[in-house]
Amino acid sequence: MTKGKQIKQLIQEGKDNTYILSKVDTTLNSIRWYRSQMKSDKIINKVLKHKFDQGTVPLILKIKEVRDKFWKPFLEEFGVLPETRFDLKGGTAGQVRYTTKFFLSSNMRMTKAICLRFNLQLAKDNLTDFLARTVPHELAHILANARNMKTTRKVPPHGLEWRKACKDLGMAIHRITRCHDYEVPKTSRKSVPTECEYCHKKMYVSPAKAERMRQDKYYHTNCMGFFEVLD
Ligand SMILES: [Zn+2]
Ligand SMILES: [Zn+2]
Repeated sequence: MTKGKQIKQLIQEGKDNTYILSKVDTTLNSIRWYRSQMKSDKIINKVLKHKFDQGTVPLILKIKEVRDKFWKPFLEEFGVLPETRFDLKGGTAGQVRYTTKFFLSSNMRMTKAICLRFNLQLAKDNLTDFLARTVPHELAHILANARNMKTTRKVPPHGLEWRKACKDLGMAIHRITRCHDYEVPKTSRKSVPTECEYCHKKMYVSPAKAERMRQDKYYHTNCMGFFEVLD
């Protein structure tokens, strides 16, 4: 049985995402895909092309487990955690993204859609610290914002509210920092200079992105010129 068929069957059997991930060694982006339950084989093939190495699935499950453990005391008051993706690359370890989309929650209040994102490469290279620092760091952003939803003032990203949330989540004091000091792999460092041929805006990208930019035209959305790789 092909992987695509196997995934389809698991979806039809009503298995959840975590179960499917643990059975089929496939890509993380497919979590989103499972959710939307797209049917096209073209999409299945696209999803399966980006394979992750073995050990990725246990890593994801570990991060999710730690995430849920930290969040447990707040579960009742603030509800389940938002969608968690593992699609961050480069030097960013974790991120909370508030999308501009609004949706009506069950209590008919306008709620911002939140997405929690993590960088698997940095998690793999710095596992202990990642679980004890990055995971609660991002959760603290969500907690601080949730607690201060009714204040009209904007909650500063790493201000007092955030620090209090870090402490309440049980983070060790020395781990409450704005940023991490993980070594970022050379291949994902933004080091290749590129320039818009029209307005001459400079942009630094990772070697992998530079390679893609050499093959496909990459437009500068501001001026519709295109970026040239400068090395
Ligand atoms: Zn932060
Ligand atoms: Zn331009």
